[in-house]
Formats: sequence, C-alpha cells, structure tokens
Amino acid sequence: MAAKPIVAIVGRPNVGKSTFFNRLLGERAAIVQDEPGTTRDRLYGEVSWRGRTFTIVDTGGLETSVDSSSDEPDPIRRMVREQAEQAIREADLIVFMIDVKTGPTPSDYEIADLLRRTNKPTILAVNKADSPQREYEAVEFYSLGMGDPIPVSAYHGMGITPLLDRVVELLPPEEEEEEEETGPVVRIAIVGRPNVGKSRLLNAILGQERAIVSDVPGTTRDPVDTEIQWGDQRIVLIDTAGIRRRGKVESGIEQYSVFRTLRAIGRSDVVLLLIDAQEGLTAQDEHIAGYVLEEYKGLVLVVNKWDLVEKDENTANEYVAHLRERMPFVDWAPVRFISAKYSQGIPGLVETALKIARERERRITTAALNRLLRDAVAAHQPPSKPGKWLKFYYVTQADVKPPTFVFFVNDPKQVQFGYKRYLENRIREAYGFEGTPIRMYFRSRQ
Ligand code: GDP
Ligand code: GDP
Repeated sequence: MAAKPIVAIVGRPNVGKSTFFNRLLGERAAIVQDEPGTTRDRLYGEVSWRGRTFTIVDTGGLETSVDSSSDEPDPIRRMVREQAEQAIREADLIVFMIDVKTGPTPSDYEIADLLRRTNKPTILAVNKADSPQREYEAVEFYSLGMGDPIPVSAYHGMGITPLLDRVVELLPPEEEEEEEETGPVVRIAIVGRPNVGKSRLLNAILGQERAIVSDVPGTTRDPVDTEIQWGDQRIVLIDTAGIRRRGKVESGIEQYSVFRTLRAIGRSDVVLLLIDAQEGLTAQDEHIAGYVLEEYKGLVLVVNKWDLVEKDENTANEYVAHLRERMPFVDWAPVRFISAKYSQGIPGLVETALKIARERERRITTAALNRLLRDAVAAHQPPSKPGKWLKFYYVTQADVKPPTFVFFVNDPKQVQFGYKRYLENRIREAYGFEGTPIRMYFRSRQ
C-alpha cells in the first residue's frame, strides 16, 4: 500500500499557514463540515491536484516539545525551528511560507538556512501578496537563497495554482502500488502519543502464544515494520515508536512525530489508536482519529493502562460514552480496554483488528442494497424544499477497502449531510461494517 507523499507547511505564526491550508482543503472541508471534530483546528488533509494526491500538514498546529524553561530567548522562534526540523526530517516536500508585509525576519533567515542545507524539495511561498504590486519581487526574498519565491494570497485565493503546480512538479515520483508477494496480509498501525504504551503493546502482541515472529528478511519495506504470523493470518505491525527503541533517548521524552504517524496510517489497513486511560483523550488524539476517517482506514480506540484505573461496573461504559461524545465522527470504531503492561486484552484486540480487516472486504449484493435503499427512503423521505426534490434511483457497492457505495440520484446537490448519515446508519444497522469508515458517493443520473 503506497503511502501518500507528505507536504509540510512551515513558517512563523501569523504568516497565513492555516488560511492557506483551509483554502486548499476548502472544498473537502465543506463536505465534512457537519461532522464535529473534523473541521475544527484541522491540521492534516488530503489534496488532489493534476492527478497526484498528497497529505498536507499545517505544522503551525503541531505540538512540539518546547518548554518555557529553556534558555532560548524566544520560545516561538524555537518552536518554529523545531517544526521546520521535524518537517525536514520527515516530510517529502516543504512549503516555507513568509509574509510579504513583514518581509523576511531573522527567524525566517534561520529557517531558510536549515532548509537550504537539506536536499528535501522546498518551495518559498510569499503570502499576503494581495495586490499585483509586485512587492514580492523585492530582492530580499531572493536573499533567502531559496530560488524564485511564489507570491500567493491565501486570503484571496491567488497564486494557488502556480504553487500547487510547483508542488506536484517536485513531489517524489509515484510509488508503484506494491503487490503482496505471498498472499494477503493485514497491516496494523499502532499510534498514539508518547508514553501511551505503543512499545509495550507491540511487545505484548509479539509475546502472545499465537504470534510467530517472521524471520523472513526483506518481506516488509520499512525498518519499523514487524511481520508476524497469527494463526493462519499474516500481520504486519507498523510501529510508530520504533525509532526510539532503536536509539538512546536523551531527553526522556520522545519527540512526537505527526509525520511518522500519518505515514503509518497511510500504509495501514487498521489503526490502533492508543489512549491513556488516566490522561484521557487529547486534542491530538482527536486529530488523528479525524485523519483515520479521512483516509478511510479501520480504527480501534484502544484504552491502555486500564490496570491503573479504579473501576466499578459502570466505569467502562462511562469511558465509552465519553469517547463517543468527544468523537462522534468515529462512532463506528470499537473501543477496547487493555493493559499492555500486564498483557490483558491483547488477543481480543488483535482479533478485533482482524475482524475489521475482514469487514473492510465485505461485499453486499446490489439487490440487497436496493431493497435497503427502498425501505430506507420509504421510512424517511429526504427533506425537500419547494422546487427541489431528491430522488434515488439505485445504489451499488463499487469497491471494498473501504466499502464504497455509489448512489444514483437525480440531483447530488440535494443530498444533505443528515440524510447521508441516515443512509450510512441504515447500511451499518443491516450489515455492520464495524470498525471501518464507509465511503458514499452520490452521482447524478437523469
Ligand atoms: P498562521 O499562524 O501562519 O497559521 O496564520 P493564519 O492563517 O492564522 O493568518 C494570520 C493572519 O493573516 C490572519 O489574520 C489572516 O486572515 C491573515 N492572512 C492570511 N493570509 C492572508 C493573505 O493572503 N492576505 C492578507 N492580507 N492577510 C492574510
Ligand atoms: P510509547 O512511548 O507509547 O511506546 O510507550 P511505552 O510502551 O514506552 O510505555 C510508556 C510507559 O508506560 C512505560 O513506563 C510502560 O511500562 C508504561 N505502560 C505501558 N503500558 C502500560 C499499561 O498497560 N499499564 C501500566 N501500568 N503501565 C503501562
């Protein structure tokens, strides 16, 4: 499974990164607008341009390990530098954004220095070039030593086309979809914040009697992949904590790598999102769950360190209710409570992931789907306004992984989010698809 290339937007606060980001995702953001949690403070999203698809990351929103006690005179400057460093290490391409109004600042020169010393493709975007005054041709932008600046106005949507053209030009060549050499394999990514127990979980899975760790070299393409045999099922575990295990930890706290996480999700079939039972859900966890949804991957919400929680008979249910309330947009994802440390709940968790992988491959016949559609529409007519009405002709399942349904209607624009959600719920009631997003397209047919 080829992961999408990752494009990072770096730059000082207030240069317009998030405005630019929202502009790029505008249309897509609008589609999921009603889904709570998916548009608020979005940090990652998918962009398709001239046949290429990539993930774009707004580094301005990433949490970094800046601590205020550092002797750095300017914590913001340090934060921006850390984000740039992370992007240099882990993104495929970097869009460095500066503000035409303030011109390059000392901090901009510092970032430019870092970027020049890498061989990652980098694009200099000069934002807030709102009028054709051509201030951006000012020699000072060339003095950053990053080639031709591309003037944009994120706010007014100008300059976006040349910029995206340049991005697509510089992206690494498309990877061939890697076909599995030896039969079907389920790829499971283990993600979550530092210290949530990712390494422990990996080891707990490897320690299970059923897990036979493969000693065949070269069957996986990433050094942090671990291939195991689970009964008669081949599994590749994609570990995002792996890098730290290999090296020494200097600071005691691993740098949380959003890039590594996104890449792991991109390469997976099912994501285990670990949540610390005691610390509860963080904004970062919500972002990751939103990304899993947008990538249409399977998802299990894994509450780890359950051994540390004082429990009565309601505790688990209350926890589930809390997760559902915070993340209604992934209410189809099962919740599992485990203790990686004491190896509790581990086989059940792996079985859950495998079941989701099977659900993702399920096909429903067209006849059955059309019965469902007819009944659903009869039970609850789509809302209509005067002169506007929505008529469904038929539905068919066009694909698996994720299960993808195409509805033929008279006018796709009339399909409202609430009704789409209603149809999704009816499909889930009838056929499950637990743990996987399902994709629904509405096409016009007169
Ligand atoms: P970030 O901190 O880099 O993410 O910056 P924001 O996207 O939050 O933008 C900072 C401010 O710059 C906001 O008030 C934006 O409305 C404004 N801004 C962003 N893009 C443009 C632009 O193209 N032209 C102008 N004039 N203002 C912009
Ligand atoms: P990672 O950074 O996500 O890979 O987290 P680790 O696997 O290194 O775990 C971080 C810390 O949490 C270690 O001290 C673990 O022993 C501890 N830990 C992990 N899982 C559990 C658990 O289920 N229960 C308890 N009590 N501690 C755990």
